[in-house]
Amino acid sequence: MGLIPDEIISQVLDRSDIVEIISEYLSLKKAGRNFKACCPFHNEKTPSFVVNRDKQIFHCFGCGAGGNVVSFVMQHDHVDFPMALRQLAQRAGIFIPETNSELGGKTKSLKEVVFKSNELTSEFFHDILVRGDKGSDKAKEYLQARGIRLETAQKLKLGFAPDGWDNLISFLRSKDINLSNMEKSGLVVAKERGQGFYDRFRGRIIFPIFDIRSRCIGFGARAMEKDTTAKYINSPETPVYVKGEHLYGFHLSKSAVAKEDYVVVVEGYMDFLTPFQEGFENIVASLGTALTTEQIRLIRRYTENVVMLFDADNAGELAMLRSLDLLIEEGMNVKVVSLEEGKDPDSFVHEAGIEKFKEQVLSAQTLFDYKMDVLSRRYDAKTVEGKARISAEMLATIQKFRNEVIKQEYVKKLARRLSVSEGALFVELGKIKGVLSGEPEVAKKKIQKASIRIVERNLLRLLLEEEHMIPSVLEEVDIEDFQDDQVRPIIEHIFDLSKTQKDFNTASLVHFFNDQETIQFISGLMASSDFESADKEILKKDFINRIKGDRVKIQRKDLCFQIQQAETDGDHERLEDLKQKFNQLIRGNQ
Ligand SMILES: [Zn+2]
Repeated sequence: MGLIPDEIISQVLDRSDIVEIISEYLSLKKAGRNFKACCPFHNEKTPSFVVNRDKQIFHCFGCGAGGNVVSFVMQHDHVDFPMALRQLAQRAGIFIPETNSELGGKTKSLKEVVFKSNELTSEFFHDILVRGDKGSDKAKEYLQARGIRLETAQKLKLGFAPDGWDNLISFLRSKDINLSNMEKSGLVVAKERGQGFYDRFRGRIIFPIFDIRSRCIGFGARAMEKDTTAKYINSPETPVYVKGEHLYGFHLSKSAVAKEDYVVVVEGYMDFLTPFQEGFENIVASLGTALTTEQIRLIRRYTENVVMLFDADNAGELAMLRSLDLLIEEGMNVKVVSLEEGKDPDSFVHEAGIEKFKEQVLSAQTLFDYKMDVLSRRYDAKTVEGKARISAEMLATIQKFRNEVIKQEYVKKLARRLSVSEGALFVELGKIKGVLSGEPEVAKKKIQKASIRIVERNLLRLLLEEEHMIPSVLEEVDIEDFQDDQVRPIIEHIFDLSKTQKDFNTASLVHFFNDQETIQFISGLMASSDFESADKEILKKDFINRIKGDRVKIQRKDLCFQIQQAETDGDHERLEDLKQKFNQLIRGNQ
């Protein structure tokens, strides 16, 4: 954030009423001081999605989604913060000047040049293919032979890089791109001796690669003759292209993926193109061997359900196994399709048709069955050694599931399949955990998270509802009085803001937080129903007394512990000091 000026952000928020905006997406029904609808972020029949006009927030009590109007547009339209804000600004008639986003300054301008060079290049190659000049006939024939229609080539901006050393160089020069920037965009290669550059892509079919925002970030170039040394030549990494961070075709398939709520992941360009052309649109290509964490997180913005469909060769199988573990670690639901030996999605669709392809996808194996099959082919499940190897590899995967129930069920299943005792497997699983769980930090965090303090949450909720109470509460409590990990940073923020911002109101609070968890926590408190009691002043006093009382109790416990320690240590000086503190504490609270 911070790139769009704050005053413009406030203007946009002021002029974008959340009820009005969400009404354009859903039909809202008035319910008390709130509006209700069925949640667009999870499947439900009775509405638990609430919009509150006073606080300008939405919250779903079913799935926990929540936030302000910008969060809603971000989540609903799958766009980032600046994009959501721009959409709202446009709607409200507010002009946002173009800013140097991301890394700003120099890096950005280089990125801009690279994007521009790529865009020009993809158009240059595409035009040549479509017009059919510079020897692109053979490329057209090649694509035809592989069943790719012209409209598909147009959608994906496929192109042809003609033979010759400087076709692209001359074209880009004519568009004022200099050689140094061409090189930084990975489009040209420096000659080995002396000066000069030559085109990187020559005599090849061009597959431009786009990011999720449809910007051209790089290229894959395929040879048409079988005897060429490299089947594919790809763009090197550039300021806009980092390998393993993007998915081929996702800019076109993302809405279908969100709509179908699952995605089929294939390996190569053609594996994507053929099913996509036949109307199977919730598909992406990984363009690499195994999926990366970045790619998985990109997918997760649209769906949590993944069907992996990799080539049925050895390399494909290994890539698959690696991807599966990562997917589980990222909390995704995974299934696997294995086509018969030697088939890939491209050849399968051509031979069997798209309907049969869909059948294959729908009858995908669970991850468990798939991995068991692979391992059973590698090791002999009838021998003791085989059982040990299979169970070790299966448990390594099972251990990655976040859900304990799933873990248990898989262990039981594994025990049955290998005819070994569940007990033995649980012991082995424990060993893996023992090795991996050298994470006291995480454990500690979990314990702290667990110390939810209802009274603190109630006071926070009261403050969100009755913001005029903030100054008086501020006088009576101290940030140290709060023990709840989620409440404390929010209270701290409210106190800061109420001191520094003259017209601070809690409706704008969500805007000051970046992490989804906190935003949802706030929207949840705000959307909760009113306090029953009419006298909120009494409630306030009660909450404050309890919070302060609790703090004294904690301090007293802590002092008692220290006194005991001093006694066993025989440290009389310290003992006296501590006793004095103890007395002060008790006296101060009478
Ligand atoms: Zn929901």
